[in-house]
Order: sequence, then structure tokens, then C-alpha cells
Amino acid sequence: MTDTLLENNAEQPETVRAEDGLDFKLEMLNSLNEKLNEHAGVFDKFTDISGYACCYRNVKNRHFEAVGNFNAVLGMELKDDTDVLRIPELVTDDTLDIINRLINIGEDPSSDCLIKEFCIKKGSRWIEGRAVAVRDESGEVTEKYLCFRDVTTHRLQLDELEFLAYYDSLTGLLNRYSFIDKLNEIVERASHENVTVRVAMIDINGFKRINDSLGLVAGDELIQLFGQFLAGFNDEKISIARFGTDVFVMSIYDPEGKDTIENIVRTIKDRLKKPFVLSNKDQVYLTVTVGVADYPESGLTGLTVLQNAEISVYAAKDGDRDKIHFFDNALMKKFLESFDVEKKLQDAILLKSFELYYQPQYNIETGKLRGCEALIRWRDYDGTLISPLKFIPIAEKSGGIVAIGKWVIETAVGKLKEWMQKYNFEGIMSINISAVQLKKDNFIDELLTFISSANVDPSNIEIEITESVLIDNSKEVIEKVNRMRQFGLGVALDDFGTGFSSLSYLRMLPISTLKIDKSFIDTVITDDATGIITESVVNMVRRLGLETVAEGVEHNAQMDFLRRINCDNIQGYLLGKPMSEADFEREVLEAK
Ligand code: C2E
Ligand code: CA
Ligand code: CA
Repeated sequence: MTDTLLENNAEQPETVRAEDGLDFKLEMLNSLNEKLNEHAGVFDKFTDISGYACCYRNVKNRHFEAVGNFNAVLGMELKDDTDVLRIPELVTDDTLDIINRLINIGEDPSSDCLIKEFCIKKGSRWIEGRAVAVRDESGEVTEKYLCFRDVTTHRLQLDELEFLAYYDSLTGLLNRYSFIDKLNEIVERASHENVTVRVAMIDINGFKRINDSLGLVAGDELIQLFGQFLAGFNDEKISIARFGTDVFVMSIYDPEGKDTIENIVRTIKDRLKKPFVLSNKDQVYLTVTVGVADYPESGLTGLTVLQNAEISVYAAKDGDRDKIHFFDNALMKKFLESFDVEKKLQDAILLKSFELYYQPQYNIETGKLRGCEALIRWRDYDGTLISPLKFIPIAEKSGGIVAIGKWVIETAVGKLKEWMQKYNFEGIMSINISAVQLKKDNFIDELLTFISSANVDPSNIEIEITESVLIDNSKEVIEKVNRMRQFGLGVALDDFGTGFSSLSYLRMLPISTLKIDKSFIDTVITDDATGIITESVVNMVRRLGLETVAEGVEHNAQMDFLRRINCDNIQGYLLGKPMSEADFEREVLEAK
């Protein structure tokens, strides 16, 4: 028993040891397997998340592994049994051709390239592929690894960035920077081939007003439609870009034949005879101003030609907008002059080198002095008087008009007060203000505060505005005019007959006086039609309860006619030119 036991005891540990060894190995294998499975799982998951599809080939034992969703990435499955690593019948497909080239990596003994990268397009998608070949000491390829990934989104983002860098996102035309680059290239080529390059700047007239009335979205749509139309000119000789909100530029290489600027502008103007129809069914008509400059005549670099085309447009804005404006020396001179005036004007504002002249206005019926209009003059260093016609438009562009206008109001109101005390003057002081001044938010507040503090009766002051004030925001302007009228100021509409001259303005604008422009008075006697129109305007205006002033009356015949049609007042050289304050006091106030 003991023996048996002993025997048993002696045998048992041996058996246990052997089984233990097996179990242990099994356990090891199991846990190894588990680990491998875990690794494989983790590996699969990573491949899944990363969006890669990868495969591996052991060249020696032909072992093949593929992980990841090949179907999603490449639109096909990679399987060992198809021996996709060499599928000659599929080589026709570009993608597969490239895959095969990747797969064949390292097989060309002359190439020691062991890593290859490709970005290939499959339909509308972009696939990035990478391959690595591993060689043994003898240089033979033993393993290959391949990865593919769909990079379409990334690629599209890159494409978009690239597009934004070179093109205008709204119209798809070239943007300013790439146009300048291109123009420089074109000019360079033209210098070798001895041809002209014409640059045309096309500026939409009054776009700000259109944009304000349509709203930004519709404004953008309009620019888009016009841009698309211009894009139709693009060809091997013509390039078009959008330069600013409403400014387009066209370069024409060797402008001959159908490509002359005259032909192109004619085509543009023909198109503009029809409206642009927006998606909200609004129909919008556009007009444009075109300024032109040439290489080499008006500049030897792309940039100079471009700047000169801009000067041509700038100058054209003050003249006839319907023509094509070619850059020339006279234009440059005008531009430099206005530049010069602008600089000198800054000093004049600081030094207050201005004077007011006063031109009398008389009641036709009674012959009594109605009052006067204050007209500004600028006395230059050398004593010459510069006309407001020359510097007011420049001051309006530079913004200097705000300071100048303030000085005019203060000086004219001061003079009115002085004359009231000194000469018992009871007339009206008429003061011109510019649309730029009126547009300022605080203009009315400042004006009314100043007049209150000056302690003059507002009914002795008349503010002259022109129709152009209505261009940008008529609702705001009407409100401002209303405030002046409620305060007791007179408001005159100046230069009636020169602008849009719509009588409907007169109903909208709560003005007190209408000034009939000199251009009407000039031909009121000689041209029957003008006579008839002037008469009916005066009649209608009187019925609206407004006072009339005829400007630029130079002849007795004109005065007689105006008297006959019941015009209230006249102003003109016939009865008095604009005079310095001393002259006005002596000739008008003391002679009363
Ligand atoms: P406006 O307001 O139409 O002024 C009338 C212009 O016609 C004045 O020219 C005046 O001298 C001129 N004129 C008056 N009667 C006759 C006439 O019988 N025959 C002729 N040939 N001309 C006559 P001026 O003083 O050169 O002013 C030109 C323009 O400058 C003014 O036109 C006005 O628009 C602007 N302006 C003048 N002073 C000011 C000012 O203080 N502020 C602003 N914003 N503009 C002003
Ligand atoms: Ca005036
Ligand atoms: Ca006038």
C-alpha cells in the first residue's frame, strides 16, 4: 500500500509535470493567441479609423494580408487569390496601373527607390497611395507594404484654397493679384513681339446706390451676372479680372480685328441695353465707365498701364461717362493738377485762406432786395482767387469739404448777424452745402446748435442743396430736410434743371425755394421749348407754395420774361455779380 502509494506517489508527480508542461504551453499559446488577436483587433480598428486600406506581401513565402475597407477606398477588393499584386488584365485602368506600379516597387533592380508616393484620381475622388519595399542583405525585395487613403476632402480644400488665391470667389474671374502677375507676363511677351497691350478698366456707375437699394445679396448677384457676362470675352488674347467691388479690368493682347476696344465696348453696351434679371425677379439696368491705357504708349510696365487706365476712369467720372476714355498726357496733367490742388487745399483749410463773396437776389415784382447767396473763393498764395468750381469737387472727394463747409456756415451767419445790426438788413443769407456735408450724421445737430447759439432768426437763413443729395439715401435726406424746415430754416433746391430734375422730388422734399438753373435762363428767350418748360415749372412750383429764384439772369429780356411768368426772384450779373463783403456793403446795403 505504502509501495503502491509510494509508487503512485512516485509516478504522479511525473504525470502532473508532463501535463502541467502541456497545459502551460497551451496557456502560453492561448494567451499569445489572445494577444495576437487583440493586436489584430487594435490594428484593424486603427486602420478603420484612419481610413487607410493596407496590404502586405511577403515575396518569399507569398503570404498576403489586407486590412481596411478597400472597397470604400479603392472601389474594389484586394484578395490574395486574385493575385492582385500582378493583375495584368486590369492594368488598363489608370488607378490599377498606378497600384501596380506601387506594387512593383523595388522590382526594378536599377532603382533603389524603396518608398513611393502617388496621388491618383479615380472618378471624382482622390486617392493617396504609399508603398514601401523591404530588401534583404543581398538586395532582393522580401516584403512590400502598401497603404491607400481617400484624400478627396483634403484635396478639394486645397483646390479651394488655390482657387481663392488666384480667383475672385464671387465671379470666378481672376483676382487683382493674379491679374497683375498675368499682365506683367503679357507685357513681357509683348515687348519681345513688339505688339500693344491694351488695359481697359470697366467701372459700374453708381453701384453703391444700386447696392443700397437692392441689398447686399442682390448686389452680389448682380456683380456675379455682370462678371459672368464679361467672362465670355476670355480667350487666348483677352483676360478679365474683378478688381474691386464694382470694378473690372480687361487686358487685350494685340488689340486688332474683332478684339478692338471699340468692338468690345460696343458688345458690352449692347448687353447693358437689356436689364439683368435677378433671382428675385428684380430687373436691373447697369451703365459703365470705361478707361483705357496702352502698353507701351502710356506705360512701360503692367502696373503703370493699369494705374493709367485707372486715372482714365477717374477722369471720365467727371466727364462724359458714355465714351471710352483713353489715357493721354492731358489727362495725366489734369490728374496731377487735382492732386496738387488737393495738397494745397489742406494748407488752405488750416490757414483758412478762403473768402466769401455775396451775390444779391431781388424780388422781380417789387425790386426789393430779397437777400444774397454766399459764394466761396479761395485766395491762393499769390493773391489770385480760385473758383469754387475748381476746388469744391476736389474737396468733396478728399473730405476737406466738411471743414470748409463749417467755415462757410460760421462766416455767412456771422456776417448776416453783423449786417442785421449794422444795416438793419432783413434779407435772407443763402448758404450752399454739399451732399458730402449733408450726409454726415451729425451735420444737422451741429448746424442747428450753431444757429441757436448765434442767436439769429433761422428764417433769415436758407440752405441750398442740389438734387445730387438724393442719390445715396433719399429717406435720410428727406428726414434731414424736414428737421431744418421744422427748425425754421429755409431750404432751397439749387440748380433745378441740370440733374434728374424730376418734379416728383419736389413733392418728396419739403423745400421752401426752387432755384431755376442758369442753363434754362440762358435760352429762355431764344428757345420756345425752354420758355414753355420754364413757365410751367414756375406755375407748378408756385402752386406747391414754393418760392422761385431764377439764376444767371444777364439780360433785361430774360428779366421781363421771368416777370411775365410770375417768377418771384432773380439773381444774376444783370443786377449784381458776386462781390466781396466790402463791395456788398457799399453797393448793396448802403445804397438801399
Ligand atoms: P451755384 O450755387 O449755382 O452758384 C451760382 C454760380 O453762378 C456762381 O458761381 C455765380 O458766380 C454764378 N453766376 C451768378 N449769376 C451769374 C450770371 O448772371 N452769369 C454767369 N455767367 N454766372 C453767374 P461761383 O461763385 O463760381 O460758384 C460756382 C459753384 O460753386 C456754385 O454754383 C456752387 O455750386 C459752388 N459753391 C460756391 N460756394 C460754395 C460753398 O460755400 N459751398 C459749397 N458747397 N459750394 C459752393
Ligand atoms: Ca447755389
Ligand atoms: Ca445754382
